[in-house]
Amino acid sequence: MEIKTARFVMSNSDVKKCPDPNKPEFAFIGRSNVGKSSLINMLTGQKKLAKTSSRPGKTQLINHFLINEDWFLVDLPGYGYAKVSKKSKEKFQAYIVNYILQRENLYCLFVLVDARHEPQKIDMEFINWLGEKEVPFALVFTKADKLGRTKLDKNLAAYKAELLKDWAELPPLLVSSAEAGVGKEDILSFIEQNV
Ligand code: GDP
Repeated sequence: MEIKTARFVMSNSDVKKCPDPNKPEFAFIGRSNVGKSSLINMLTGQKKLAKTSSRPGKTQLINHFLINEDWFLVDLPGYGYAKVSKKSKEKFQAYIVNYILQRENLYCLFVLVDARHEPQKIDMEFINWLGEKEVPFALVFTKADKLGRTKLDKNLAAYKAELLKDWAELPPLLVSSAEAGVGKEDILSFIEQNV
């Protein structure tokens, strides 16, 4: 698939106020700094699309973009911020949880993890929760340019082993590098096959 048009639609923190769920939706989530904005910008071919919404005060919102007038791309807040107070963390998580569980047109949630690290507790807890709730998701290993093939394969194998402890089936696993322009085709064809 080629992304011809990508435009910002709205930001909010309430699933009920999101755009009409009349188009397929694909959302991106991951720990802060995992490379989510860079990945979204690479996919859409727009240098500042995700940055537009991540200006101060907007980082913790559900951001909708309309792609090719055909499907929604959603930039979700990063999880695992160290500096968020407990109260705002709870609030922050509650509306993301509501979005993930209640958004009826969410076809797939892309969970971004840094390819350099072995499975992290916070990511595994989130992934296992998605599995329990039967939310369709795929894993994207970001920043693949930062490590060699052997180390990447080792980390992918570690993730697979960790997942297979709890689940009989693996989710789709994709690899990306916004820096090296890797993964764009794979992710866009995955979306195309699932709309
Ligand atoms: P976000 O907080 O998840 O949106 O992360 P950003 O996209 O803002 O990226 C966080 C940092 O990682 C920035 O300094 C990026 O330049 C860097 N980064 C993002 N993607 C890549 C990548 O694919 N390769 C490398 N080497 N660095 C990346």
